[in-house]
Amino acid sequence: MKKIAILGSTGSIGTQTLEIVDEQRDIEVIALSAGGNIDLLEKQMRKYKPKYVSVWEEAKAKELRENTLDLGIPIGYGMEGLIETATIKESEILVTAIVGMLGIRPTIAAIKAGKKIALANKETLVTAGHIIMPLAKEYKVPILPVDSEHSAIFQSLQGAGTNSIHKILLTASGGPFRGRTIEELKNIQVEDALKHPNWSMGRKITVDSSTLVNKGLEVMEAKWLFDVDLDQIQVVVHPQSVIHSAVEYEDGAVIAQLGTPDMRLPIQYALYYPERRNLSGKRLNLFELGNLTFEEPDSKTFKGLELAYKAMRRGGNIPTVYNAANEKAVCLFLNRQISYLQITELIEEAMKQAAFVEAPDLEAILQTEAATYAFIDDVLK
Ligand code: NDP
Repeated sequence: MKKIAILGSTGSIGTQTLEIVDEQRDIEVIALSAGGNIDLLEKQMRKYKPKYVSVWEEAKAKELRENTLDLGIPIGYGMEGLIETATIKESEILVTAIVGMLGIRPTIAAIKAGKKIALANKETLVTAGHIIMPLAKEYKVPILPVDSEHSAIFQSLQGAGTNSIHKILLTASGGPFRGRTIEELKNIQVEDALKHPNWSMGRKITVDSSTLVNKGLEVMEAKWLFDVDLDQIQVVVHPQSVIHSAVEYEDGAVIAQLGTPDMRLPIQYALYYPERRNLSGKRLNLFELGNLTFEEPDSKTFKGLELAYKAMRRGGNIPTVYNAANEKAVCLFLNRQISYLQITELIEEAMKQAAFVEAPDLEAILQTEAATYAFIDDVLK
């Protein structure tokens, strides 16, 4: 039996991880954590009987405890609860399916406790990659990518031996607004931004995909995961989302991974790596597809990508500013407090004013996050 813990078990990646648990039947769920969806978490507790669960707020933990007295499962809350979920003794693999920078501390704690990391929570690597990657090396803990593009790169690297990467071709669907002008983006509403053409995902990443901020975060994630220079990562817009990404080697050979857009495949690959298991669902049919097309990203209209390259080139705590400004701005947009185009405007302004810290430790990363949030509050006053 494989033993796993999940941060964010009630979300899009979390619930799809549990679908794999249902299908494969040889995974034991040791611990689960969620934000506030205690109804779904209760259902998961009754079904999987984990040894520990946690939620974000103390009041929700209390309510959940009262509703599940018959189960006797200990319930924690807050950052302590996340860290307990991440480090619980019996589990071997931690699936980081939580959204946002909140994942940094539990991921660090899990690495120090020797857990393999199945990493979906890209914000963690974007802001603390310089801490997490060396730490994983020190503790000999594999970081197994769950993001479909990074899993595709990882799969394309199998059998590479000592051959190095010449270039990474990071594919992007282009999002729901591909081909639109700035003028046409002015009146985008929350409902429009939440309609992704190919993937069904959580709300934040769906908005991030539409602004190309998600692709920016993925460029940074790829840099840390595969130890390449930014100039070696080329973003290719591929609207059909069939080629999930590719690696070009020194001799010009390009190895790619293709498949239907189904996150269960990269999740399952991370859980069972290097083994491949049967997976139910639709298979790729190239005859049905007919054409695969490719184009350059429109970085002028969708500033999210260009700003990410800028943030990464400046380095230090600037990727944290980029990420924190985006987390805050997307939240404000989803609450209908700012317009769609203000998301990337706020990221740009936050990056311009940020105090530079060259090699931020965890405390400096969290301070940068708080300062960025405060800056955005000030701007909007
Ligand atoms: P969702 O919004 O669907 O789920 C987020 C999860 O995090 C939920 O379980 C939520 O709990 C939990 N959560 C939120 N806030 C807190 C908190 N304060 N404390 C504890 N738990 C919390 O997100 P996704 O599954 O879409 O994304 C998760 C991560 O995976 C992100 O980093 C995303 O970028 C990445 N990713 C997602 C992909 C996808 O297909 N969805 C693809 C590739 C990467 P609750 O619902 O109970 O509040």
